Parts: sequence; C-alpha cells; structure tokens
Amino acid sequence: MSAWGAQALQPVRLQLKWTHQFQFAGYYAAQAQGFYREAGLEVSLLEARPGQDPVATVLNGQAEFGVGTSDLLLHRARGQPVVVLAVIFQHSPLALMALERSGIRNIHEVAGRRLMIEDNSAELFAYLEREGIPRGSLNLVPHSFGTAELSAGTVDAQSVYITDEPFVFAQAGVNFSLFTPRSGGIDFYGDNLFTTESYLRTHPAVVEAFREASLRGWVYAMGHPTEIVDLIIQRYSQRKTREQLLYEYEQMRPLLRNELIAVGYMYPGRWRHIADVYAEQGMLPAGIALTGFLYDPQRLHIPPWVYWWVGGALLLTLSAGSISLYILRIDRRLSLEMERRRQTEWSLKASQQHYQLIYETAPLALILFDREHRVIDWNRAAERIFGWPRIEMLGVGLERMVPAADLDYVAKVMEQAWEGGLVGGVNRNLTRDGRTILCRWSNVLQRDGHGEPGAVLSLAQDITEAERIRADLEAANQALHTQIRQIEGLQEDLREQARRDPLTGLYNRRYLELVLQRELTQSRDQPLSLVMIDIDRFKEVNDTLGHQAGDQVLTALARILTSTTRASDIACRFGGEEFTVVLPGAALEVAYAHAESWRKAFSELLIQADTGEVRRTLSAGVAAWPAHAAEPGGLLGAADRALYAAKAAGRNRTIVAPIADPAAASALS
Ligand code: GH3
Ligand code: MG
Ligand code: MG
Repeated sequence: MSAWGAQALQPVRLQLKWTHQFQFAGYYAAQAQGFYREAGLEVSLLEARPGQDPVATVLNGQAEFGVGTSDLLLHRARGQPVVVLAVIFQHSPLALMALERSGIRNIHEVAGRRLMIEDNSAELFAYLEREGIPRGSLNLVPHSFGTAELSAGTVDAQSVYITDEPFVFAQAGVNFSLFTPRSGGIDFYGDNLFTTESYLRTHPAVVEAFREASLRGWVYAMGHPTEIVDLIIQRYSQRKTREQLLYEYEQMRPLLRNELIAVGYMYPGRWRHIADVYAEQGMLPAGIALTGFLYDPQRLHIPPWVYWWVGGALLLTLSAGSISLYILRIDRRLSLEMERRRQTEWSLKASQQHYQLIYETAPLALILFDREHRVIDWNRAAERIFGWPRIEMLGVGLERMVPAADLDYVAKVMEQAWEGGLVGGVNRNLTRDGRTILCRWSNVLQRDGHGEPGAVLSLAQDITEAERIRADLEAANQALHTQIRQIEGLQEDLREQARRDPLTGLYNRRYLELVLQRELTQSRDQPLSLVMIDIDRFKEVNDTLGHQAGDQVLTALARILTSTTRASDIACRFGGEEFTVVLPGAALEVAYAHAESWRKAFSELLIQADTGEVRRTLSAGVAAWPAHAAEPGGLLGAADRALYAAKAAGRNRTIVAPIADPAAASALS
C-alpha cells in the first residue's frame, strides 16, 4: 500500500465500539505517532453513538474496520462475512458486579436476585449456567447503561466492564465483588479488530497495513500510558478524568497481557472454545467451521520472552560444538526459508498492487457484487459512468442501477455468473442524474482463498453513444437505399417513357432504330423479318369522326399487334398511322403470315369510337435480313417500298419485298 501511499493516503475508517476512552488507546497512539501515515493510510476513528452496532456499520460499508467482541463469531455464523484481524484483549473485560451490601458473596447467590445484563453477554450466561444457575431462573431487568440502580440497591448485580464501572465505587470506598466468567472456566476474547471478507479481498494490502500500524500503536500505548491518557483528554474526550483513564489502563494490563503475548495474536483453539460455549448456549450449531473467519497474516508471532528464553538456552548449549553446528545448519535453513517467504510476500504485494492499480484506473466500470447482488466494491470508472460515488453504492442492490423492466433479465445473468463461468449481456442502466444508458456487461465469478464462490466481478462499458451512432448510421443507410431505389425506379420510368409512344404504349421510332441495330448484331445465323404497316385512308376517320376517333383507331390496331406478338417481337409506332413490327428469328413466310393475320383481324374489327363506328383496312410490306439488306436502314427501306407497292396495288394487302439475290432467298426458305 505504501508504494502508492506516497502519492495519496488511502482513507479508511475504524468504527469503535464505545465512546473515546483508554479501551482504544492503541489506535490513538498509531494516529499520533504517525504509524498510519507511514503505512499510507488516512485513518478516521469513529466513536460509537448510543445504540449503534459497530458490526452493522462495517457490514454496511460505512467503515472499513471495526472493534467488536467475541460475538463476531455469531455474526459470522449468521452469514455476515466478518473477518477477525487481530485480538487486542486476550481476555474479556465483561464481568458481573455486586456491591457488598447486596449480601452476594459468591456467584451462586445471584440466583433469584435482580440482575441487569447487557446485550451480547453470552459468556456471562454460559458462566452462570455452568455454575448451576440456568437462564430461566434469572430475575433479569433491562440494563440502564449506568450504575445508579446498583448504587440505589434497586438491582443487586449487573454486567460491567472491569476496566470501567468499578472505578467510581473504588473511588468512593464502596466494597464490591466482581465475578468473571474466567473463574468458571469460560475464557472469551475481548475487543477484536475486524473487517469484512469483501474488503479484505479487494484491499488486502490496505488491511495488512492497517493491522500492522494498529498493532504498533498498541505496543506504544501500553508502554506509554500517561502520554496516551493526556492525548485522549487533549484530543478526543474529557468525559473521563485522568485518574479514571489510568484506572482503565491498569485494569486492561492483565487483559492484554502484552508482555507475554504479542498484541493481536489469536489462537484458533481459543476461538474453537468460544464457539463451543456458544453451541452450549444454543446460540450456534456444534462444530461450526472457522474457515475464513480468522485472518492469517502469514507471519510468526513470537512474544519477546521467547527470544530471551531461547537466547539463554542457546548460551548454555553453545559449548557443545556439534550442537552449535547443528544449530547453524538450522539457522541457515531458517534464513533461506525466511528469504523465500520474503520474496513470496513481496511478489504477492506487487501483484495485489497491480490488481489495485488496474481496478482503480481501468476505463471500464468494475463492480463487485455479493450473493444477494448487492454492491461490495465500486471503482472510479463506475463512479464516472453511473454518477454515484462508491460510498453511496456500497450495500446497494441492483434495482438502483437497473430499470424495473430489465431487472429480471439482469438478475438471471447474475445468477448464471454465480454458477461459474463468464456471462455477458447488454442491458439498460440508470444513472444518478436520471438518465437511462445502455451498457455492455461481462460478469465473472470470483473465488476466495479456499476456492469458494466469493463475489461476482462485473465489468461494464457505456455503449449508449456508440449504439446511438450505430442506429443513426443504420437509419441513414436505410433511407439512402430507399432513395436509391426510388431514383432507380424513376430513371427506369424515364427510360421507358423515352422509348414508348404515349398514345399506344408501343415502342417509338427512336427506340426501334436503336434496337434494330442490336437485334441484327445478335441474330448471327438466325433470320430477322420486319413488317411495315400503314392504315388505309386514315385521314378520312379524322375528317369524318374527328381526331379523337382517329386516335381510337390507332389504339385498336396497337392492341391487335401487342396481343398477337411474342415478348421477343418489337412492335413500334413508326410515326402517324404507320407501324413497324420487328420479328427476330422469323423467316419471311412467317412474317408474311403474321402480317396477313393482322390485316385480317384489323379489317374485321368494327371500332367503337366515341363519335361513331368505324372499320378500316391496312396495307403491309414485309422484308427480311439478310435477304433484303445487311443493315437497318436498308431493311426499313425495303419494307417501306413493299408497303408502297401494296398501296399502289389497291391497299388492304401484304406484299413481300422482291429479292434481288435468289441465292440468299433460297437460303432463307
Ligand atoms: P393512305 O395511307 O391510304 O394513302 O391514306 P391516308 O389517309 O392514310 O393518308 P395519309 O398518310 O396522307 O394520312 C395520314 C394522316 O394521319 C395524316 C394525319 O393527319 C393523320 N395523323 C397522323 N398522326 C395522327 C395521330 O396521332 N392521330 C390522328 N387522329 N391522326 C393522325
Ligand atoms: Mg401514311
Ligand atoms: Mg395511311
């Protein structure tokens, strides 16, 4: 932690379990001596308010560390993931106190008497039970958190901290008895330093740094009591007098026993004993596992007297050469082992720092969720993307950041993540300023040191803007395509219009000339015939029935031509009342037959014009490629001449153009 502590101190909060007094001396010392600062920490010491439960405060994320009693074990068993970092009070200060004038001289005499016992005092009840006084036989009255009732004699005994309440009576010269659970073989730990599993997992270096600095503080405080008493009065609280605080210190010494036991040391066997007592009281199931509950700093805690003792023993045995050699070898092995451990610790610390650095500086939101999908950590990118600062989000459920409509889906994804593996998805999210954004999520299960599912780490990327741009682009692309299709349609219409005669819908002359060239080049060895048609005495229709009737006659002939030609044939209005039909693949005889059928059909048709009935005939001239000409102009000319011949011969007839080269003609037929 100190590696980046040089730039900025890591702020952490310690929730005390009572108001300021010598009970927390070590933390004040660590603060005043600069041990926290050296460890890269900016520590706030939070006094407990009346009725406040420090465990709840830490679990809610309102503090990173807390001071709690042995009942942390009960919390743990209830599924609240607390982890004990260090035991400060090797023995609990909780005791039962009775004044001499109550007549209670031994513990058995409290049976049937009025007792005030504060909450979380399992050790006292277990003690009484072991002394043959079951809980049911106790005459309990609510605890007033004072000693007035005891003074007044309205209660006969009450639970006290031996470091605290007895002082007033001792000062006043009132005689009293203290009954401690230890005298009944029940030895609970007193104050403990604790944190949560998730904080330990996400900030292992901070936890280790805080623990070490706090323990240094405790060593200092117990060695400099008067200095710390003055510090408390000056800086923290004047609630207690100097004498009172020194009394507290004196009473604490046998509870900490720090001259024998390194401050912070905890022994799993003692916790097992505490668990057994709770089980005896029916407060825990028997044989509960302590896995994960006890912090393991991976270091040996040897009290100073052991060194003295070993040193003395060494001096005695060094005279024997073989033994000293043996010891030297052990010593070499030990230093190698220590070096190896130092290396491992160093690389562990380095990788933790890397992880921390990535976690804090990643451009992706990194969020840790607990089993109930509540936030247990929230990095800076998450603060930026969603708007809520980390402190506001700790302990908060999904519903704050996921719209109601998406909640089921997101909860399902999270459950899949808890089953292991990597689960991704895209969903909407809410922000602190009331916006709805779109995020891409990846969720992966994190296991704790024992391989048990511990948390789900979720990575989120705000893709709102990217998605908007993508959608805009797609819409623009769609519109463009529609427009292109419209333009293409219009162009096709225009092309079609340019080819067609508006009155009859047949192709016009310009198109005919264009297409005739194309057809001739494509025909190769296939014949191509052309029929030229002119309506006989058409002018008369205009003159007698009017121009519109003339138009209707033109349309009638066009209908005959279109209905009797194939798709590959090309029927055109050549101009005025003249029509041309190109018949690719048709030999002269076929074209002649066609012309004759049109002529017949037309002559038999009685046309119903608006201004009267009219019947007309037509004349036709037929020519073929390559018999009559090798190019379009020549072919049209030959057909036209044949048509002219038909007119001259009396109209209402079809004439085939005469063939100049009989060889070509026979080749065709
Ligand atoms: P024939 O061919 O038998 O010699 O006699 P005709 O009466 O058909 O002769 P002509 O070619 O001189 O007459 C063609 C007439 O067709 C002249 C013109 O007024 C008329 N005409 C040309 N185009 C149209 C048109 O689009 N609609 C109408 N109603 N008449 C047209
Ligand atoms: Mg004409
Ligand atoms: Mg005519």
